[in-house]
Amino acid sequence: MKKTKIEWTEATWNPTAGCTKVSSGCANCYAEVMAKRLQAMGVRGYENGFTFSLVPERLNDPFKIKKPTVFFVNSMSDLFHERMEDDYLEQILQVIEATPHHTYQILTKRAERMYSFFHKRKVIPQNIWLGVTVENRMQGIPRIDYLRNLPSSIRFLSIEPLLEDLGELDLSNIDWVIVGGESGNKARPMDKSWVLNIKNQCLNNNIAFFFKQWGTWGADKVKRNKKLNGKELDGKVLHAFPKIIEEQFELS
Ligand code: SF4
Repeated sequence: MKKTKIEWTEATWNPTAGCTKVSSGCANCYAEVMAKRLQAMGVRGYENGFTFSLVPERLNDPFKIKKPTVFFVNSMSDLFHERMEDDYLEQILQVIEATPHHTYQILTKRAERMYSFFHKRKVIPQNIWLGVTVENRMQGIPRIDYLRNLPSSIRFLSIEPLLEDLGELDLSNIDWVIVGGESGNKARPMDKSWVLNIKNQCLNNNIAFFFKQWGTWGADKVKRNKKLNGKELDGKVLHAFPKIIEEQFELS
């Protein structure tokens, strides 16, 4: 359970660790680099490096936090990984249900499994927000259809890293869209017109739009420190949240 620099959440909760790459968005996975570093440092929970592992000693961490908190679940893994056991997933869901004062953001690239898990379970706790990553047209956009058909209190898209123009999106039943460019030495550039296309579709459909960052490549297509490239789009910080969070929580 950790405070995080990720602007669209408050803290991270990682009841599993490690993952396997499944699509283009995974090419420069931050979690892989971090997991190997944490393994080398001997940090508990990362004994297996980036190999998918359950971390049951972290399962009950949310009970220790009394203050209502927004958690990004599995920032270092994917909750619907092929090796995740249904029983363990159910234990995670039970912790979420037993801590209704918290909000849990669950983001996956394995939308099909998320859909079939909740379809079978029937109940999605009210304090869960479900999201899918949409990095490109071919692998990312089909995930949105699985998401929009799940009755979650908030459904969101993490369009990061945005790797190409996504064209016209079907944003029905989507409440929140986050967009960001890629970071790191091997980052792929993001074109400003791709971002504006998504922003305009969000505005037209009354959907909260959050522009996270340019990443390693600036709006001017120059490679530099991501802090220098910043998080402004046409001179503005666009950090909208879905309505529910503005009413319940204060996020900085
Ligand atoms: S799904 Fe996420 S955590 Fe897993 S390899 Fe891809 S980017 Fe990394």
